[in-house]
Amino acid sequence: MTDAIATFPDPETVLSRLPALVVGHRGAARLSVDGEITSLKFNEAARALADEAHLVCNLPLITRKLRLNVGQTAASFDLLELFAFVRPARFTLPTIFGLAQSLSLAHPPTSNPIDDVAILGTLARCLLADLSADTYRWHKGVAATAMAMARSGWPWGPVVLGALGPRAERSGGLAAWQGLPEWEDGAPPPPPSDHSVSEDEASQRLASLLGDGSEARPAQAQYSRSATHAFHPRAAQNAPNLALAEAGTGTGKTLGYIAPASLWAQKNGGPVWLSTYTKALQRQIDQELARLYPDPKERAAKTVIRKGRENYACLLNVEEAARISFAGAAGTRDAVLMGLVLRWLSHTRDGDMVGGDFPSWLGGYFGRARLGALTDHRGECLYSACAHYRRCFIERVVRKTRRAELVVANHALVMTQAASRKGDPDLPRRLVFDEGHHVFDAADSAFSAHLSGAEGAELRRWLRGRETATKGRARGLLSRVEDLLTDDDVAMDHLRDALEAARLLPGPGWLGRLTTDSPRGPYEQFLGHIRAQIFSRVSDARGPHGLECGTESPSPDLLKAADLLARAMTALSQPLTALAKRLIALLDEEADSLDSASRGRLDATARALSLRSDMVRAWGTMLADLKHTRDPAFVDWFALDRMDGREVDAGLYRHWLDPTKPFADTVLEPAHGVLVTSATLLDQRTAMEDEDWSRAETRVGASHLVLPAKRFSLSSPFDYAANTRILVVNDLRKGDVAQLAAAYRALFLAANGGALGLFTAIARLRAVHDKIMGPLEQAGLPLYAQHIDPIETGTLVDMFRAEEQACLLGTDAVRDGVDVPGSSLRLIVFDRVPWPRPTLLHKARRAAFGGALYDDMLTRLKLSQAFGRLVRRASDRGIFVLLDAQTPSRLLSAFPDGPIPERVGLAKAIDMTRDFFNTAPSPENPER
Ligand code: SF4
Repeated sequence: MTDAIATFPDPETVLSRLPALVVGHRGAARLSVDGEITSLKFNEAARALADEAHLVCNLPLITRKLRLNVGQTAASFDLLELFAFVRPARFTLPTIFGLAQSLSLAHPPTSNPIDDVAILGTLARCLLADLSADTYRWHKGVAATAMAMARSGWPWGPVVLGALGPRAERSGGLAAWQGLPEWEDGAPPPPPSDHSVSEDEASQRLASLLGDGSEARPAQAQYSRSATHAFHPRAAQNAPNLALAEAGTGTGKTLGYIAPASLWAQKNGGPVWLSTYTKALQRQIDQELARLYPDPKERAAKTVIRKGRENYACLLNVEEAARISFAGAAGTRDAVLMGLVLRWLSHTRDGDMVGGDFPSWLGGYFGRARLGALTDHRGECLYSACAHYRRCFIERVVRKTRRAELVVANHALVMTQAASRKGDPDLPRRLVFDEGHHVFDAADSAFSAHLSGAEGAELRRWLRGRETATKGRARGLLSRVEDLLTDDDVAMDHLRDALEAARLLPGPGWLGRLTTDSPRGPYEQFLGHIRAQIFSRVSDARGPHGLECGTESPSPDLLKAADLLARAMTALSQPLTALAKRLIALLDEEADSLDSASRGRLDATARALSLRSDMVRAWGTMLADLKHTRDPAFVDWFALDRMDGREVDAGLYRHWLDPTKPFADTVLEPAHGVLVTSATLLDQRTAMEDEDWSRAETRVGASHLVLPAKRFSLSSPFDYAANTRILVVNDLRKGDVAQLAAAYRALFLAANGGALGLFTAIARLRAVHDKIMGPLEQAGLPLYAQHIDPIETGTLVDMFRAEEQACLLGTDAVRDGVDVPGSSLRLIVFDRVPWPRPTLLHKARRAAFGGALYDDMLTRLKLSQAFGRLVRRASDRGIFVLLDAQTPSRLLSAFPDGPIPERVGLAKAIDMTRDFFNTAPSPENPER
């Protein structure tokens, strides 16, 4: 320990010697230690930051604005790091306003650098006072972590220790994982009963959830009653009770289905899974469950948020990373990240690092990949052989899921679980798919097969472990299961054969060899031929985007390489399958002697092996099919993935032409009751209602079931005619980015912020951002942007929501994941009609599902979803602008009844926007 740390400096002394710096979009402000505030230009701010330590908030964002690397600055005291340390697993927006809000300090949401810089010292003092208080709640491991971080050079380390004072002695050690509670096993729950939920029961439950005196919402009550169809016993095998429910925004569908779902779970002693597509809705459902279980303890026992394994911290990975980070050889940033992770680990609700209570902005600070390496993202779990098994977050959540009444999950998890555990009696039998309009896309991802370089390399690593000297845990299959199999020669032989065959998969450095035409082994050689075929067949290989070509008439060389690779895949799949079978046989043969932990490990390893051998066999079939007539159920193509012009992967891809077929087979048919619901299930509510429903049924797999679905649709209660406008700007020249940026700028200014800019291409988003950033900042409108700001999308939306004058630019993820009630979102500007991307996969589906009508349907659904972001509650008002003069009128039926879309010039659109927001809504003025 250095003397400086041992003496624990007085925090006030440190703070009083620390200048503060805030960087806005156009300039910066600095508060000197003498209390003088000066405005600085960017280059002056960059110099100040490089010369001297400052008190700042969000250093990565500041350095991006100043075009610096974090390493080019003097050791800064970042308030966000202090917050994450002092209040672990607690939410804050990564802004000065956000910190002030979290610390209950008054500070306006939209401010300027001069006002902002004055509050930084107060924020720091407030956090340090927290640490010094006797009532401080997050003391577990606080001093040991601060000490380790201080030794590694974290500027706040000594200050934190100074604030803790003598209290530091009693706070426990650095090994946060040791302080986590252990989970306990219980007997497996019996299968659920089959009691129905009646419509009246659902109504009563809904009324009790809403509470006395709540406003009557007849549509919501009707929704709840109709949803009970999914909560009756099923009449025949493979014939679930399927309900399709379209419920316009504001119907209150979440509580509408929670009512019958919770009743069914309680009456029958089984879980109902509530599946969403976006994290935003998952969060919202989690909040709504507080009405059902007001007691937090009961809620924690009866509900669970369930995600894929790759979302949760793996304690073994964390322990290993902490050991490396604090060993002394690692840099300060590594140690700071690990220190903050350890603080979070001691206080997290469930260990979810992606969208849970982990500070998501740390991803922008340290990089997603580094955080991802702390999770079980590669499936390398040791199960009961792991020293942390009984404290493992993943094992805990799996056990909790078995006993929960309501499981909040996501479409991807539900589908991959159903595909990988066919016949498992523990799979969910009652399901609600909210955001049902995404079922098709989720199934498309879940049931596809990619024979690509990255997938092959991942499999090799899973089998053979790390083969190069890099940091981190990467133990191969042998070291993960050897202790279980040493006495079984047959199993060991299969294992060794599999590891040997895995040498034929892409090895370390495969991408470099591929791009320099020096492939090694049959897999890499096949990829090399794919690459050559793509380059020979596309008409223009330049540009930053990926390339693709069809698999028809492959070259003889490519077919020869495919043959060789198919043989290699057989050589690999055979021992994998044999080993999986042997492990299952061992479960039976050694039933008397195996302890339950070893059984669990054998079972999990057998499943993981089966999954991978199925994948390798599927690859073999894809390779063999290159020579034959294509199976019309699938679409195959070759692709070269590029990121900003850089090649990142190449391979042979296979997707189902209709992915709802495997979805129906694996998820719907084994289920007993399913509700698929959305605000946008139907394309158009036309006179041909049956045709509209039949298209919706095709999108969710209902058409593959033997029994027809019960269908119902409820309109939104919102008065769109009075509260919204839809404008199509008809005088912008297509492709002229300057004109496009001018339109965004003027419209955002006319609305005085509260604007969401949606783009169909990242390049256009970036170009517009660069042009409008300055003028908006000048007008006091903060601008945030996906793909530009080093902040995760969900946090960007949180920041946008918190500031009424903020503007946000984004692409698909923003369009789907935004739930911003109130006036923070009052204007949506879309750059172009969101036509489907003209990929080979889309071409095949277009041909199969109705040609141009299919394109129109997909586009209308996207427009309808985007419009749906605008009005989230009855009092919301807003304008939707489409900056595409070529918008066909037939697409405008995407919008709800009420507002009549108007085609206007940009000047008129700006005037109308300004007038709309300058005119207060009133009952006498229904036009507004
Ligand atoms: S049991 Fe598996 S996931 Fe859990 S901590 Fe151990 S290795 Fe990681």
